[in-house]
Amino acid sequence: MSENKPTDRSEGTPTQARPLNFIEKIITEDLANGSVSRIQTRFPPEPNGYLHIGHAKSIWLNFGLAERFGGQCNLRFDDTNPVKEDEEYVASIKKDVQWLGYQWSGEVKFSSNYFEQLYQWAVHLIQTGKAYVDHLSADEMRAYRGTLTEPGKDSPHRQRSVDENLALFAQMRAGELDEGACALRAKIDMASPNMHLRDPVIYRIRKVAHHQTGDQWCIYPSYDFAHGQGDAIEGVTHSVCTLEFEDHRPLYEWFIANLPTPSTPRQYEFSRLNVNYTVTSKRKLKQLVDEGHVDGWDDPRMPTISGMRRRGFTPKSIRDFCELAGVTKVNGIVDVGMLEFTLREDLNKHAPRAMCVLQPLKVVLTNYPEDKTEIMTAPGHPQRDDMPLRNMPFGREVWIEKDDFREEANKKYKRLVIGKRVRLRNAYVIEADAALKDDAGNIVEVHARIIENSVGNDPADGVKPKGVIHWVAAHDNLTCEVRLYDRLFTDVAPDAGGKDFLQHINPDSLDILTGCKAEAGLAAAPPDERYQFERQGYFTLDAQYSTAEHKVFNRVIGLRDTWGKMDQS
Ligand code: ATP
Ligand code: MG
Repeated sequence: MSENKPTDRSEGTPTQARPLNFIEKIITEDLANGSVSRIQTRFPPEPNGYLHIGHAKSIWLNFGLAERFGGQCNLRFDDTNPVKEDEEYVASIKKDVQWLGYQWSGEVKFSSNYFEQLYQWAVHLIQTGKAYVDHLSADEMRAYRGTLTEPGKDSPHRQRSVDENLALFAQMRAGELDEGACALRAKIDMASPNMHLRDPVIYRIRKVAHHQTGDQWCIYPSYDFAHGQGDAIEGVTHSVCTLEFEDHRPLYEWFIANLPTPSTPRQYEFSRLNVNYTVTSKRKLKQLVDEGHVDGWDDPRMPTISGMRRRGFTPKSIRDFCELAGVTKVNGIVDVGMLEFTLREDLNKHAPRAMCVLQPLKVVLTNYPEDKTEIMTAPGHPQRDDMPLRNMPFGREVWIEKDDFREEANKKYKRLVIGKRVRLRNAYVIEADAALKDDAGNIVEVHARIIENSVGNDPADGVKPKGVIHWVAAHDNLTCEVRLYDRLFTDVAPDAGGKDFLQHINPDSLDILTGCKAEAGLAAAPPDERYQFERQGYFTLDAQYSTAEHKVFNRVIGLRDTWGKMDQS
């Protein structure tokens, strides 16, 4: 299958180096004492939205555990709620998992694959006197359920005969009863201190089509009734989920104990990944999309995997971040700076260098012949000789950043100043003579001179340049658009404590610069390459906004402050 091509991960993750997390310890013991002979995990998204950075953690953990212990991980869509689910989400989730560098075992699985088996198991519970059809309304059921401090009370329908229950459940399946008329409940314990054990609903009538099963069903199993049984069918050994399911574990175990399942999976919980300045709830992310606050699920500012991919994140940086954040049972919030750290680490190692002037100012080199051009060469990457040298045209007119020139400046300003020298990176040292202005007094052009023989050498007269700036030839370059992104939210915890996250959207999260001048070679930039625009940050082509004539680059992330650290090449 051509779609089954995960991202290359030959470099791997730093997994081997660190101590085992608590789930890895459990698995190591289970293998050692023979309680399991092989490891099977699963990643179980509900296809009701695009995946976000929190899901990346679960993907990394589940696929990573299988990988580390020589087992396998399934991708199973937990598709028990047809109303909110969609095939679009199924497709995006598969793409995201593979992009992160993982491959599920065998075919993609769906909980809906098991609807017939689940139905049979529901019948089994009825036959063994452990389930009943209840006609209480949803409100009545709630009232009967009791509270955390008070036991619930039995439904008047709890003692129905097996035959009556079987007949009613068959009628439910046949579509003979209306939505909400009744539901199938497990008969457990209405006085249990665990609310999930107070006769949970396991089947509801929903007369809606399903994205996988079409009109085949008009009753759907609850999440709790589907999840553990799906695990058992697939031979999942370690069913890893987030802490909010801890209270569901007794119910998970009750179903497995009371059904003739082919295997006995165990559930383990870890804490969700929360990241500051970020919202990780599919519902809220969907709201951002639906209300037009962002340009779709894959807007480069979104914490979705598709947004991060489009922004230019590398899969490795996300895996490394998940690893660094760790696996615990304590809820906490991770600093988004950690994600930016793993991103920069990876980009710095792999991103070819390039130059791009974001706010161009023309410099005319008055002592450079009008008809002359040269080709300057620069390394593709300062530490990597496997990357090809870049050829950069040079001529009498070049673009530099507006910010890199001042008529006068103090000593701290290590850029171009009238009467002073600066090096054009990988090219000549130049000295500025004059600034030309328009009627409004804006500087529109700078006149300067090259210092002869200064490419790769200090000037012969011993007067060294103040600093190094980037530039692009005026006669041969790529005019492009650059999109600078900032955090989507200004608040460190945009949706904490019931806050309205929409009130904290950063109005300056996107800055669009047009007429930027990039090194000519970038006209051929492939969509999945990330470049370091020297002194500016890391950038990647936005395949969606770019056309053949109009290239758009996204800023993935800025550089750390490298002023003064630049070498004078
Ligand atoms: P959301 O709250 O965004 O709707 P969800 O938990 O409902 O997320 P699912 O599709 O059910 O979304 O998630 C699939 C898997 O990913 C589940 O096992 C879930 O526990 C896990 N997961 C979701 N969010 C996080 C997170 N922030 N950190 C770690 N794992 C997560
Ligand atoms: Mg969920």
